[in-house]
Amino acid sequence: MKFSIISKGDQKSNTLAAKIRTYLEEFDLQYEDQTPEIVITVGGDGTLLHAFHHYAHRVNETAFVGVHTGHLGFFADWTPEEVEKLVIHIAKTPFQIVEYPLLEVTVRYLDDMDEKRYLAVNECTVKSVEGSLVMDVDIKGDRFETFRGDGLCMSTPSGSTAYNKALGGAIIHPSLPSIQIAEMASINNRVFRTIGSPLVLPQHHTCLLKPINNVDFHITIDHLFLLQKKVKSIQCRVAEEKIRFARFRPFPFWKRVKDSFIGERE
Ligand code: NAP
Repeated sequence: MKFSIISKGDQKSNTLAAKIRTYLEEFDLQYEDQTPEIVITVGGDGTLLHAFHHYAHRVNETAFVGVHTGHLGFFADWTPEEVEKLVIHIAKTPFQIVEYPLLEVTVRYLDDMDEKRYLAVNECTVKSVEGSLVMDVDIKGDRFETFRGDGLCMSTPSGSTAYNKALGGAIIHPSLPSIQIAEMASINNRVFRTIGSPLVLPQHHTCLLKPINNVDFHITIDHLFLLQKKVKSIQCRVAEEKIRFARFRPFPFWKRVKDSFIGERE
């Protein structure tokens, strides 16, 4: 089996990554960073995001497993002390694949520029470069509202514990193929009105954001930051592709939520 390792880049992660590589090669696994079947990330959840985008063109052929060198993560659950165990699992046991939904974002332009398609593991955010974001929001082909405010965040279920949570969005179990739209400081008064609550859309519902004015936008796709001009629309929906995780032991989502945000009672 071909494997690759993506490290966060700090000394601790690099040392651990080198150790994992040596161990796996001792088991006759082949280090190959172009077409790996399994990608081991060493760092944190952010490292997984970087690794996913590095291999996004091979989403159906690549499985990820994460080792955390900082705090316990949502995507990185193996500790540095457990890497020998993890290596033996990777080398010796056929792994189970767990798939989580991704967000598909299609940006279309007012000029002749070709549309661009992105996949997000966590979310896409849209903000105006200057002033409030003003956009019509269509859901499943119908005008839903005109949003005015700081921005909008469209997240996946696994991204619901990230930026979305900071915006007061709900935590969604990743077995539900859905996307969530959360507002960033919407303007609500007698003139302007938005729903004010996060919305959860099922797989077959598309959200289309249409700018009212031809202004520039900041769009993020996970950690990636894009400056976008002449935007006609931004379409968000559940992607057909899924991110694949290699699972060697149970990793219950609600336990991760509890461990990350609540912890043990004294
Ligand atoms: P960063 O700003 O360096 O780190 C963002 C933090 O979010 C890190 O602690 C990261 O965990 C954590 N994180 C990432 N994915 C998560 C998930 N699915 N559930 C819970 N926590 C998660 O940026 P980055 O490392 O490049 O990550 C980009 C992400 O930052 C974006 O996708 C967005 O979700 C998040 N973000 C959050 C806010 C906010 O909460 N106000 C604002 C902007 C961006 P690790 O330490 O394990 O890497």
